[in-house]
Amino acid sequence: MNHNQIIVFLGPPGAGKGTQAQRLATEQKLTKISTGDILRDHVQRQTELGQQVAPLLTAGQLVPDKILLAIVREYIREQQAKTSDLRLIFDGFPRTVAQAEALDEILTELGTAVSAVPLLEVSDELLIERIVERGRQAVAAGEKARSDDNAETARRRLTVYQNETAPVIKYYQTKSALCTIDGVGTPDEVYERLLAHLQHPA
Ligand code: AMP
Repeated sequence: MNHNQIIVFLGPPGAGKGTQAQRLATEQKLTKISTGDILRDHVQRQTELGQQVAPLLTAGQLVPDKILLAIVREYIREQQAKTSDLRLIFDGFPRTVAQAEALDEILTELGTAVSAVPLLEVSDELLIERIVERGRQAVAAGEKARSDDNAETARRRLTVYQNETAPVIKYYQTKSALCTIDGVGTPDEVYERLLAHLQHPA
């Protein structure tokens, strides 16, 4: 028997996916894959891919599925080379139905499947506030703010989310792996809700 656990974190930008996914990964010995972090790393290192995707990130637009799928396939291959159990948390992927379908295909080929899909829900007004605050805090800490953490791009990212990623929610709803978690509250409160659900799925 394997001990695979594959969690797909869904939620709009600014919902706290990264923070919650990171804590869950640390406490439950899962590996977090954040496609946004991987892409930002390419941009920073000015790789060929980084130069190609930088304008899309800055504009708050999605990077083409083909690029994301190559990144995710490669990541899963690396994980498999390291360990027999796949214990992963996806943060920021899939963002389109085509990505969700491709992920299912990859996992089916490996004889496994997505275990749980928490969806963090937060109102749009609060999301914009959080994103702008994240940008401000980075600057206050002497760091470089993300090129997309400003009110204008945040609004565009929310529109992209509603158009492209909301159908992904429906995709997982029909597979009954989805659970909605109230993302309003302190990070500890949200984490407790998340754990309660993962331990006792409805
Ligand atoms: P995130 O850090 O998850 O908010 O992602 C930041 C940006 O990276 C997004 O606005 C997209 O431009 C790009 N990105 C990250 N993940 C994906 C994905 N699964 N599909 C397409 N674009 C992505």
